[in-house]
Amino acid sequence: MLFSGGQDSTVCLAWALERYARVETVGFHYGQRHAIELDVRPRLRERMAALKPEWAARLGEDHMVRLDALATISDTALTRDTAIAMADSGLPNTFVPGRNLIFFCFAGALAYRRGASHIVAGMCETDYSGYPDCRDDTVKAMQVALSLGMDRRVVLHTPLMWVDKAATFAMAVELGGDAFLDIVVEDTHSCYVGARSHRHDWGYGCGACPACDLRARGFAKFRDGRLTNDQRHD
Ligand code: ZN
Repeated sequence: MLFSGGQDSTVCLAWALERYARVETVGFHYGQRHAIELDVRPRLRERMAALKPEWAARLGEDHMVRLDALATISDTALTRDTAIAMADSGLPNTFVPGRNLIFFCFAGALAYRRGASHIVAGMCETDYSGYPDCRDDTVKAMQVALSLGMDRRVVLHTPLMWVDKAATFAMAVELGGDAFLDIVVEDTHSCYVGARSHRHDWGYGCGACPACDLRARGFAKFRDGRLTNDQRHD
């Protein structure tokens, strides 16, 4: 499980824990300008293990892989202290070229060593900010490349590929009830600038960056959908 400590990968971790007998997590340190996402990972793992005994039994080792080289060859708003903006390429300057391709290569090598044949990741084409390495076709191509290159069948799962942020919150409730939703809101981190000083109803963040904006709008849509459903039940 590619586990960054963000909302998406945390919901995917629950998805994996519901399906597989053993789930190991991997996180990457690539010179992010803030390491808050990585800091929240151990607490998320702990709280999720405490939520369901079967999750505790299935949750295996955590691996941290240092990819410092990625920071030295990329110049983006995620690895440098520059303002988040649209670049000339039409992509936000938070885009780290090739990042997810590199993550999958390392995850594939790790999976091979650990005898795992399934890799789960939180990429999403629906809300993807235009990141080309989050596309379904990119992930499918990586699955073929890894399976051929290691001569072992590897399946890449992206449970969030076709759902928006509101549906991701709904999926959290489906997988672990309101207690898990609380973990996702309280302890996951998505904000690009790493702000955790202000608690919004959707969690912590600066409230202004594209990641906060996406999360805030997704949570509002999720909550409104819930209210409508509750009224229908009344
Ligand atoms: Zn933010």
